[in-house]
Amino acid sequence: MFQFRKVCFVVGIISLMMIQSSCAQKKDITVSKNKESKVESFLSQMTLEEKVGQMNQYNGFWDATGPAPSGGDSKMKYDHLKSGKVGAVLNVAGAENVRKLQETVVNESRLGIPLLFGFDVIHGHKTLSPIPLAEAASWDLEAIEKSARVAAIEASARGINWTFAPMVDISRDARWGRVMEGAGEDTYLGSQVAVARVRGFQGDDLSDDNTIAACAKHFAGYGFAESGKDYNTAEVSLTTLYNVILPPFKACVDAGICTVMNSFNSLNGIPATGDKFLQRDILKDKWGFEGFVISDWGSTMEMIDHRYAKDKRDAAIIAANAGSDMDMESYAYVNYLAEAVRKGYVQMEYIDDAVRRILKIKEDLGLFDDPYKYCSSKKESTLIYHTDHKAAARDMAKKSIVLLKNEDKALPLSTSQKGLAVIGDLAADKNGPLGNWRIGSEDNSAVSFLEALDAEGVNYKYAVGTEVSVGKEEFIRELEINNSDESQFQEAINLAKTSEKVIMVLGEHGYHSGEGRSRANIGLPGNQQELLEAVYAVNKNIVLVVMTGRPLALTWADSNIPSIVNAWQLGSEAGHAIVDVLYGKYNPSGKLPMSFPRSVGQVPVYYNHMSTGRPGPKDLVFWSHYTDETNDPLYAFGHGLSYSTFDYSDVTVMNSYSVDKTVKVSATITNTSDTKGKEVAQLYMQDVFASVTRPVRELKGFQLVELAAGESKTIEITLSEDELGFYNNEGNYIVESGDFLIYVGGSSVGGIEKKFTIN
Ligand code: BGC
Repeated sequence: MFQFRKVCFVVGIISLMMIQSSCAQKKDITVSKNKESKVESFLSQMTLEEKVGQMNQYNGFWDATGPAPSGGDSKMKYDHLKSGKVGAVLNVAGAENVRKLQETVVNESRLGIPLLFGFDVIHGHKTLSPIPLAEAASWDLEAIEKSARVAAIEASARGINWTFAPMVDISRDARWGRVMEGAGEDTYLGSQVAVARVRGFQGDDLSDDNTIAACAKHFAGYGFAESGKDYNTAEVSLTTLYNVILPPFKACVDAGICTVMNSFNSLNGIPATGDKFLQRDILKDKWGFEGFVISDWGSTMEMIDHRYAKDKRDAAIIAANAGSDMDMESYAYVNYLAEAVRKGYVQMEYIDDAVRRILKIKEDLGLFDDPYKYCSSKKESTLIYHTDHKAAARDMAKKSIVLLKNEDKALPLSTSQKGLAVIGDLAADKNGPLGNWRIGSEDNSAVSFLEALDAEGVNYKYAVGTEVSVGKEEFIRELEINNSDESQFQEAINLAKTSEKVIMVLGEHGYHSGEGRSRANIGLPGNQQELLEAVYAVNKNIVLVVMTGRPLALTWADSNIPSIVNAWQLGSEAGHAIVDVLYGKYNPSGKLPMSFPRSVGQVPVYYNHMSTGRPGPKDLVFWSHYTDETNDPLYAFGHGLSYSTFDYSDVTVMNSYSVDKTVKVSATITNTSDTKGKEVAQLYMQDVFASVTRPVRELKGFQLVELAAGESKTIEITLSEDELGFYNNEGNYIVESGDFLIYVGGSSVGGIEKKFTIN
């Protein structure tokens, strides 16, 4: 590896020498060979326009392997590339394509500063992993890190050196389409998952040729969009901001994340892209973030629509002053920022700071040593869709599945089951299970459930029942849902009548959730609920497999269907993973990272809510409740069954806070079944009284425990100051003395309670 880097360095110098000799404009440029000073060396030689150029990002506009653009916007962008007015691009991939674009900049711009190539590598690049919400359901940080590692290996082999992930927005609103992209409703789990992903993408050494820069997004409050509508206003209290929204971002910063993306929404009255408090005061000053902030797509100019900026010039000034370092596709910085600096509206110091941050990431990636280090076509062809990557995707997928209900142990099934029917469009679907963020991959490339059954040699008969969607399935367009056509119902009903067991695969297509895909009704889309009830009327022996990108309200199904498996959208290997679980080759171990509501009217419904002043009495109406629905979710955060059963005992608390500021909790977990299995043991805590109201309970630790039949293990979880305190409304982290309760168990409901006191 060392030798390889040395070679790259030499290549880098040679190419820089070539630049100097081939381009007359370059003759005065000196490039330092000393790594430490390259950033400063460039900075000292840059014109203001070139500095602002580094702060500009364009969407891919040209197939670089073809002829150069000769007109329109593409020509303008192409000219900007050559004149040093672009620091990064997005949505350009493929080793050859990236190389050509990089060559244009390196060979033809005055300073030859290499580009960053950003891409939404969210749950895999070519080989697709489960959607991030599903991965979070595994609670398996090692597997999640590996999944991001695989994504980085494939993406970097295609020239990409920067991913816009992880998305670390906490959200409590299943209507919001982008919950599929995050880790759910909980800050503790969300922070752990975020860090695992950062590690996976960035690895131990960013300059390796298979590690890429990560980006924590969307800073901040995007997951609290009003009424779950994407891009909408977020109004949150300081308590929620400090304790719920910001910690996963801080965890990423502490883990050394390279970039942070600001968000589309306004937060408490200020569009995030123009929010100095968030970007300068908290992120850069308080947390000491050394990377750079990228705007979201067009979010600089969207401040005009927010009616916060008068025009694009104003938007550029506001964003730059607020600490947004790079402008994605707003054309605001590139057109107005230099002039704004000259007129004194933006300090030169801010520009230098932004450029220094951007160049630093380029340097850390090793691009100054070798701008083409991610551009090997040979590597690209051997690494994408590698069998090891498929194996990792399958492993991640089976670990992500959550068994919601399993009455009378109807699952696992036997492969010799006679009279098996499979019903549902999604059972045969090779596209929907890929999930939403798969722009780098091939459509229709998932292993469908039916294909996986065939591979397993299972005998079954199939009926589609109803099409889930009609028309084109596209990332950029609304999916047209089939609400009315029931013409295929009867065939499914007939099949069910003559079958002993029915597996129904229902739910959402990958394009039902994701960006711009909020839903006001979060039951089974289209007429799938009607189909389910019609089949149930003739055969109650149903296993329901739900594919979804968000928690769905499955209340009817829960009351009637004996077994329900939540299979999310599991990516390339979806079908195999579902078969692994249904047939007991993998004993399900997933736990919900987000509460499933009983009805949409309960949303936001989440486990770590505050106490109210009116928890009861319940004999009169004057308590905090609905008259037509219970307060609790259908399936709580942390819920998930296994083919094994587990028992918790001997919970003990060792309070050594006065000695070493820790409280240690131990518990014994026993597998009381005759099947080997894995349990996610969860520890929740309540700060009984505090100077600001605190949640009824909060997750503070968890461990995955694998237990043979009948086996017991004792686990220990240490609560340190990081877990025992909270942020007050001034944003200061404090641990208050007083009583605390802890609960240890297999979900956010119940558990063994113990008390301790901090004096
Ligand atoms: C999304 C970001 C994404 C960006 C670039 C935006 O619309 O909000 O999450 O990274 O586009 O594709």
